[in-house]
Amino acid sequence: AISLSRVTKSFGDFSAVKDLDLDIRSGEFFSLLGPSGSGKTTVLRMVAGFEPVTSGHIYLHGSDVTGKAPFERDVNTVFQDYALFPHLTVAQNVGYGLKLRKTPRAERLRRVAEALEMVRLPQVADRLPSQLSGGQRQRIALARALILRPQVLLLDEPLGALDKQLREQMQIELKQIQREVGITFVFVTHDQEEALTLSDRVAVFNDGGIEQVGTPEDLYERPATRFVATFLGSTN
Ligand code: ATP
Repeated sequence: AISLSRVTKSFGDFSAVKDLDLDIRSGEFFSLLGPSGSGKTTVLRMVAGFEPVTSGHIYLHGSDVTGKAPFERDVNTVFQDYALFPHLTVAQNVGYGLKLRKTPRAERLRRVAEALEMVRLPQVADRLPSQLSGGQRQRIALARALILRPQVLLLDEPLGALDKQLREQMQIELKQIQREVGITFVFVTHDQEEALTLSDRVAVFNDGGIEQVGTPEDLYERPATRFVATFLGSTN
């Protein structure tokens, strides 16, 4: 489980996140939904440990990780731009984290094969990222994160670069993969339809705070504020 307690993040005298409380349960597909600039990415970066909090506390599985470095937290991140190494093959990209951890070669190869199987791409192991489609690159980025078996996976608009059709297909696959591996997904999106389709629960962000947390049904049928009603009803 992930817990944020009274978390604030200021950049100079601007507060991007204001006195935020949030609880995410283990194994949940949880989305941070809101318009551009509402603070979603900043929250994700603080949970990952890339960005220090200005005040407040972050707990992972009950322990306070507020001051800890990213590698000391049992979380992994998939970014929108995928950030694959262009000169390494798919298998080398996926196995990179295990190599850093000095995992023996035989185990590494076995787990790379397993991770590629998980994202349904066993056949591209020897290709370079430039020889893959956008959707395939996205899946490789996911495999690279899953291979480390984190308890929590943070995903920042991972489908943002894909066209509509591929995006819809990847939504279905992402959900299936999350169910299969059973880990907590924290998913940032500004697309309300995507959040409502994928999530067990959603937090609706506005201006550095949370308007409402609930199941897709709660939000849709019982919006707590005018902002939630308007934001869910709009298309972007
Ligand atoms: P988007 O969907 O556009 O990514 P977001 O909801 O993820 O938006 P954040 O990226 O968290 O929003 O940004 C929240 C606010 O904090 C924005 O107004 C942004 O300009 C500001 N901000 C983020 N990072 C910094 C920084 N390093 N320095 C100053 N301001 C920042």
